[in-house]
Amino acid sequence: MSNPYPHLLAPLDLGFTTLKNRVLMGSMHTGLEDIGNSHGRMAAFYAARAKGGVGLIVTGGFAPNPDSIVMQGASILDNETEAAKHRVITDAVHKNGGKICVQILHTGRYAYTKRPVAPSALKAPINPATPHALTEEEIQKTIADYAQCAAMCQFADYDGVEIMGSEGYLINEFLVPHTNHRDDRWGGSLENRMRFGLEVIRAVRARVGAEFIIIFRLSMLDLVEGGSTWDEVVAMAQAVEKAGANIINTGVGWHEARIPTIYTAVPRGAYTGVTRRMKGQVGIPLITTNRINDPQTAEDILARGDADMVSMARPFLADAEFVNKAAAGTPERINTCIGCNQACLDHIFAGQMCSCLVNPYACHETDVEVLPAAAPKKVAVVGAGMAGLAAATTLAERGHKVTLYEAQNRIGGQFNYARAIPGKEDFNDTLRYFSVRLKETGVDLQLNRRPASADFSGYDHVVVATGVTPRTPPIPGIGHPKVLSYPEAIERPGRVGKTVALIGAGGIGFDVAELLTHVHSDDEIAAYRRQWGIDIDYTDNRGGLAAPQMPASPREVWLLQRKATKLGEGLAKTTGWARRLLLQKRGVHMLGGVEYLKIDDAGLHIRVNGEERLLAVDTVVLCAGQESERGLVAALEAAGIAHTVIGGADVATELDAKRAIWQATEFAVEF
Ligand code: NAP
Ligand code: SF4
Repeated sequence: MSNPYPHLLAPLDLGFTTLKNRVLMGSMHTGLEDIGNSHGRMAAFYAARAKGGVGLIVTGGFAPNPDSIVMQGASILDNETEAAKHRVITDAVHKNGGKICVQILHTGRYAYTKRPVAPSALKAPINPATPHALTEEEIQKTIADYAQCAAMCQFADYDGVEIMGSEGYLINEFLVPHTNHRDDRWGGSLENRMRFGLEVIRAVRARVGAEFIIIFRLSMLDLVEGGSTWDEVVAMAQAVEKAGANIINTGVGWHEARIPTIYTAVPRGAYTGVTRRMKGQVGIPLITTNRINDPQTAEDILARGDADMVSMARPFLADAEFVNKAAAGTPERINTCIGCNQACLDHIFAGQMCSCLVNPYACHETDVEVLPAAAPKKVAVVGAGMAGLAAATTLAERGHKVTLYEAQNRIGGQFNYARAIPGKEDFNDTLRYFSVRLKETGVDLQLNRRPASADFSGYDHVVVATGVTPRTPPIPGIGHPKVLSYPEAIERPGRVGKTVALIGAGGIGFDVAELLTHVHSDDEIAAYRRQWGIDIDYTDNRGGLAAPQMPASPREVWLLQRKATKLGEGLAKTTGWARRLLLQKRGVHMLGGVEYLKIDDAGLHIRVNGEERLLAVDTVVLCAGQESERGLVAALEAAGIAHTVIGGADVATELDAKRAIWQATEFAVEF
């Protein structure tokens, strides 16, 4: 078979060592770093990705000293006793043909501790604590701590380190005038601001010798006021090379930037252009990053010369075998990361272990085993939404004989509405993946079938995954022709008028508001940059910022809820802020504390703060949540047929794809 991805799968010679391909598994904090004695779990997690073909892995961030931790209790890698525990990780990765570097992360003013440190005592907008400005002596000690940490990584048999110099962490804070107000030799001129990062690289290189990989993650686009200019970014890159780094990785956006850089709605490959600008400015390989989640996008990026390597992180939570599947010419078998953040970043910010919405096994490599069924059974699964798909494929993988019934002519259930929202096109990949899995595992898929209890006589067990139906709230006039359900509005947006009221502001209310205010563009990367004010050409501002230009919305939209709380408060932590901001930029009116009085020809009558108002809208869309579809359950109970209810049919409240997939998988693994 010819090589399907010749650029992606080409080796990369670093002189003293060769990477087997151009795929970097980028650093991700999984939470495993922060729990005691989890080195065995980390070993299994990384070994699975090494076995899956990744060229080079970078671990989650490890702190070089107590000041630099992400939060209280996080691991510090500064001594041989601690480093020796890591050998189980490096051994496992090497045995599986991989290479692995540690990310050395000093969080600077982003440390969630009582006394973060920084170049200057300037509080970060995302951290309540004001940092202490490092003294000369403390700076010298910090540089030595980086070198000690790198030496400990070498002691633990790692292949190298990545020095985190972007995303607004300590080194980045020294580099830019936004956070560096010093007037000593560590601040002021560019040469002074660059000094800290460069001294760190030199000190690390001096400790580890020539044959140890040093990746420097350079912020090529800060996306904050007072960030670097492009000339400064280039000067730093050139100095980083001279100081002894082997590879430069691209960093995009500080954590405090109000521009989304990695969630689903960011177009694939939206930031590789900035790495492309750096090509030719340095002699060492460049890695590009952000929203690269499929092998063809990665191949195209490398083929057109944007970078020498691509970094993907979350795609390896979604599928450890990503590279092997690509290399085998079967990309359709890849379980694609959909950029939702729901089980990875959102978990980390909530202090929970990281995993993956589409792959519940991620970070649970040592505690979940999918074993062949001891006594294979005949199972009917009813409903091919996320819960039914996950249950059916997992049961069949274990050797059960599974029939999957679906009333509609397609699989996906509620997920079909999500994938129709602009910016959520990646959700189609989850359905493609499940289609392939159904065939691979031998599930008998019966579309357009709504079985009754009499149809289950030959089965040992029935899994009820019949999902949910949209709620119709009891508002006078709810039957008026101007009222649409959210499925009707999503499937046929042409039926929705120019002025619209959305009843309900949960995930679906926000989705529908995004859909109805969206303006299509043939160049989605350019449109995304314009809307969020991103200028990778650095035309007239530091940090790569420009004035945002949002196209006029085709509709005037009111997004409503009964609760008096801020709209979107229940949305996910790492994406909710961007979704709220997007709708604000599009001029969506957001009203809380609403009482719905009636709907008539004039529009939607509401009461807010004791005052009656008429929203003279053409269309009212119901996004008022869902109720479980459990019609089958009573019939199965009456007939005495063994059954299990999962997903939305089990509990409709706060149902999402994560709960549906995870509950179904857990059931199927244990059945
Ligand atoms: P939801 O999040 O429960 O929101 C339902 C909305 O309807 C709320 O705003 C609620 O607000 C309102 N509501 C509930 N009962 C009502 C009634 N009787 N009359 C009028 N309004 C009523 O449900 P959803 O938006 O349908 O979403 C379903 C699930 O899918 C959620 O768990 C959600 O997280 C998930 N989802 C996630 C995403 C994502 O991007 N991550 C996208 C879509 C959906 P009030 O009660 O205050 O009026
Ligand atoms: Fe990707 Fe979502 Fe999984 Fe995170 S939870 S790895 S964003 S699919």
